[in-house]
Amino acid sequence: MSASAINWIDKAQALTVRVRNFVDGRWQADRGGEQLQKYGPRDGRLLCQFGAGQAADADAAVASARRAFNDGRWSKLPTQRRKDILYKLAALVDEHREELALLESLDVGKPITDAFNFDVPVSAANIRFSAEAADKLYSKVYAADATSLSFECRRPVGVVAGVVGWNFPLYLAAQKVGPVLATGNTLVLKPSELTSLSAARLAELAAEAGVPEGVLNVVHGGPAVGAALAHHRDVDLLTFTGSSRTGKELLVASGRSNMKRLILECGGKAPNIVFDDCPDVDAVADNIVAAAYWNQGEVCVASSRLLIQAGIKDELMKKVIARSAALTPGDPLKSETKFGALVSQGHLRKVQDYIESGKQEGARLVHQSAAVAPVDGGFYVPATIFDAVAPEYRIAREEIFGPVVSVISFRDEADAIRIANDTLYGLSAIVWTKDTGRALRMSQAIDAGWIIVNATGKPSGGPGEGVMSMGGHKESGIGVEGGLDGLDAYTKKSAVQWFV
Ligand code: NAD
Repeated sequence: MSASAINWIDKAQALTVRVRNFVDGRWQADRGGEQLQKYGPRDGRLLCQFGAGQAADADAAVASARRAFNDGRWSKLPTQRRKDILYKLAALVDEHREELALLESLDVGKPITDAFNFDVPVSAANIRFSAEAADKLYSKVYAADATSLSFECRRPVGVVAGVVGWNFPLYLAAQKVGPVLATGNTLVLKPSELTSLSAARLAELAAEAGVPEGVLNVVHGGPAVGAALAHHRDVDLLTFTGSSRTGKELLVASGRSNMKRLILECGGKAPNIVFDDCPDVDAVADNIVAAAYWNQGEVCVASSRLLIQAGIKDELMKKVIARSAALTPGDPLKSETKFGALVSQGHLRKVQDYIESGKQEGARLVHQSAAVAPVDGGFYVPATIFDAVAPEYRIAREEIFGPVVSVISFRDEADAIRIANDTLYGLSAIVWTKDTGRALRMSQAIDAGWIIVNATGKPSGGPGEGVMSMGGHKESGIGVEGGLDGLDAYTKKSAVQWFV
């Protein structure tokens, strides 16, 4: 089935959404108190309303996860059984592709085709990789002699809290659920208060797959619930995907409570660096537009800084502007839409403020698509490009997390490296060159956790989803996600010396 064969608007009208906590294998009643309103990005209308969450919700979920961990109902299952259950969960995610894609599109404002073709299948693939890798973590055995044996003994960390952001709600949740559960831990997951629709549904599907009660709990709410988890003395590890600002608060919370382990996947300000000797200018232009505007630019690795060498700049900019002009905001629920709405009114204002600051600081606005909202009341911002952006401007330094590109010219390789690294972030970078020596030098010199050379997006036999381990450098984070190292992070080891 393809996304275009479905009438998503009809489906959305028939849908009733409800946000509740899922703890101990059961839906929980709202405790009352402050309510949060979620307005749909597509049309600005009230999508749902739910309890803002309290520390008591976090406590109840952690207690449930603790009971489930301590009695071994999950950690002591044979690994093969845990694998089977996670494979089943991945299959259920695939089976509910339409429903989950609709929730993601309504919640985030992303094009339904992206949610259908990327968010849901890639979430399933991530869980599948964790299942596959669950018994591929090996421990060291040191040189033995006749009287002793020394080795590493590995076990799960314990109760894990997962606090995540809103740009890929299901995918970010799956990136926690897969490796945390594959390694035998229990989890309390807190999705962003801006996107609460898919996480608890994932937990419900996990229960259907056979994940025992209390192993995967979901609590809703904002920073107060996240902070309660971060300060909780009975959480052994907190795994986070969100802004660097919050990541720093989590470091403090860990230090002020039980020194819980932290995995922090934070923000970025990625450079897309084009040398005069780039391979194919049309492919480069296609990629620049895709890498900057996918998910409306609400992507941690969005290439929001476009660094172009002087010799190719005029030709390339013409092509980039032409492609950006074709990318006007569309109704997220129409399958032909490639560029949707921003997640919230508050985020829309933040992005508009950045556009204003770019104009006021002296950058040259060279492109902005027509600002026509395809659906009245929705949160739409057009693709925007500034040229002549000085490195000190806010639009060059701060993560906008929206469809705004800052173009910066460079002279030579040294200049490109200096500008690319002149940022607090170190999440990702793209480099375009035909010179293999330069490609290797740039891969060494750019301080980022993920570097793509010539991102032509050609189908390849490279590693599948979730297979590579990566994590941010500098203020983009601590630790890695993905691959075997991503699973390893949710285990702890004891060094055992055994004298016989
Ligand atoms: P955010 O930091 O505002 O919120 C993320 C989560 O943390 C939410 O669940 C929120 O409720 C919670 N939170 C906020 N303040 C908290 C506090 N003081 N204590 C505990 N929890 C708190 O980030 P966001 O706006 O939701 O997400 C956007 C950010 O996420 C961007 O910076 C983006 O680059 C980053 N991101 C990073 C990756 C990655 O893999 N590196 C992936 C996606 C998004």
